[in-house]
Amino acid sequence: MLCPSCRSEQSRVLDSRTVESGSAIRRRRECTRCGTRFTTLERSILLVTKRNGVTEEFSRDKVIRGVTRACQGLDVSDDALKVLAHEVEQTIRANHGSQVDANDIGLAILEPLRNLHEVAYLRFASVYKSFRSAEDFENEIRLLRGAGEDGQRGQRTVEDAVS
Ligand SMILES: [Zn+2]
Repeated sequence: MLCPSCRSEQSRVLDSRTVESGSAIRRRRECTRCGTRFTTLERSILLVTKRNGVTEEFSRDKVIRGVTRACQGLDVSDDALKVLAHEVEQTIRANHGSQVDANDIGLAILEPLRNLHEVAYLRFASVYKSFRSAEDFENEIRLLRGAGEDGQRGQRTVEDAVS
């Protein structure tokens, strides 16, 4: 990493600390030539393998974009989506290490989205799981009912979604 001021390659580390729940290290550095102080961030890259075999870097923004569509018109805040994307990344890093299939990202989105908003979950699941009929929705809702803790409020939400 070159000094941003004089482009020297030589710098010494003044301080380093793990950030982002241990998935990154931030270092405070000082250029040994001109004394400029700067900060670097070192992070292991999470690679996503797409269906066509191409790999790209995991992007929380992409997760948010994908979920935003399912949340349209619903009372879901931007902050809640950011938290969800963070949760998804943590889950993937814990379960898949540094490389993951694109398909598994959808899977990692399902559970936190279900906790966030049932209607958004059903919309997302209908695309991800390729629902083809009302019956698919009914089955999924039955599963939701089985898994849900917040029975009454949730029920009304889900009925709104399918009526
Ligand atoms: Zn310098």
